[in-house]
Amino acid sequence: MQINLSHIQEGGRAYEGEEPAGILDVENDPFVRAPAPVRYDLLAEVVSQELLVQGRVETELQMACSRCGEFFSTRVCDSSFLRAYELTGEVSLVDLDGDLREAILLKMPLFALCSPDCRGLCSQCGSNLNRGSCGCAPSATDGGAWSVLDELKW
Ligand SMILES: [Zn+2]
Ligand SMILES: [Zn+2]
Repeated sequence: MQINLSHIQEGGRAYEGEEPAGILDVENDPFVRAPAPVRYDLLAEVVSQELLVQGRVETELQMACSRCGEFFSTRVCDSSFLRAYELTGEVSLVDLDGDLREAILLKMPLFALCSPDCRGLCSQCGSNLNRGSCGCAPSATDGGAWSVLDELKW
């Protein structure tokens, strides 16, 4: 998305629309898929020697759950997007794609969970325990170690 400075009138100009998910550049990330466009609803105004852009940026991502590895959909939104671009005499177009991308990446959950009580994978056979018990005998040592780790993470 580009803002043409000559289009910005007194009092600012609203920009609402969407960019293809390609601007997120997550094609090579095995844990994230971006099936939906990036939507923005922004106000741009020129204040002294800067272009101020603020508003909301959001999209829908599919992320791999940190416990069970299954992909799930999650809405990622930066509702207080705010960037300032210094203007020099030569600038007539300001490209926002890099900052839209950054805004979304910063709002992605660091520890993505498909559900707060995801049961994860069996430490012995690797079955997804959300789909039911795998029949492995519970191992006291394993179970103990994992629950301690879980508590540390939180
Ligand atoms: Zn999960
Ligand atoms: Zn198992």
